[in-house]
Amino acid sequence: MRTRSPISHTVTALACALALGAAGCRATNHPVEPADLGTPRPSAELLAVIDEPGPIQVETVAGADWEVALSGLLNLDHPKAQTAGLEDGVEPIQVYFHALRHPEHGLYMVDTGVERALTRPDEDAAIRGIVARFMKVEAMKVHIDTATWLSRQSQPLSGVFLTHLHLDHVSGLADVPADVPVYLGPGETALRSVENLVVGPNLSRAAAGKGPLREWGFVPEKDGAFEAVLDVFGDGSLWAIHVPGHTPGSTAFLARTPEGPVLMVGDASHTAWGWENGVEPGSFSADQPASAASLARLRRLAAEHRGVDVRLGHQTLGVRLARP
Ligand SMILES: [Zn+2]
Repeated sequence: MRTRSPISHTVTALACALALGAAGCRATNHPVEPADLGTPRPSAELLAVIDEPGPIQVETVAGADWEVALSGLLNLDHPKAQTAGLEDGVEPIQVYFHALRHPEHGLYMVDTGVERALTRPDEDAAIRGIVARFMKVEAMKVHIDTATWLSRQSQPLSGVFLTHLHLDHVSGLADVPADVPVYLGPGETALRSVENLVVGPNLSRAAAGKGPLREWGFVPEKDGAFEAVLDVFGDGSLWAIHVPGHTPGSTAFLARTPEGPVLMVGDASHTAWGWENGVEPGSFSADQPASAASLARLRRLAAEHRGVDVRLGHQTLGVRLARP
């Protein structure tokens, strides 16, 4: 696909600006199509196999250290946050991605880490201008950029699974080869907000040159452990779990490894404190009540299957808040 011109972006931004009185702008106009992976299954089928060892290796990579406002990461109005006396301030976090290695299906990434151009001031990064300044990209301490990491892999990247379409999960997409398929939850590109007037072009640049983004075909389930789950490869080794709230299409992933299940929750919980105390994310979420419900479902899964190794959105389990 051809990269869109600056004029095209400007026209889109103007059209969006005119529509701001309504519901704001779409996250991106990058095309989407139905995913060619993932078979809808009842949650019970996931629960039936979750504790059995599986074939996938999971490597979590901290691409960068960063810091953001605690009020975005945690709902500070939650009674538990109030009781704990939590106050807003800058909280240290990390930007992760997860490498999944399947013996037959190959190498996949969950989220994308940090684009190489962000580490090189003389290059045009996908995230730039006012958004880069607002995100305090300069405060990011990059450990390894995604282009460097990909260059060290002995096998090609077969696909990218995004937990959601926020910039800090999408930045490394610019380093992913154009022919690698990218999967994400339903409604992510269509989510409207006023902020997308300035954020949207950055998302579009990260995805520029890629084919249509492939949306998971979640089929809602009544009275299941989750809203919907998919068996990604059809062999029960990797499950995509719909956990809406932080964004409409937020997706967690459960990989069965030889050592046990690994649960990658994305930003259903950014922080260790939020996970441990059952307090959902704050102002970064589109729908806080839905995000609280999704977090509760994920925590129940971990509580009922003690062997589950939980990987959070932006901190490792056990890390303490910088304050109080
Ligand atoms: Zn997010």
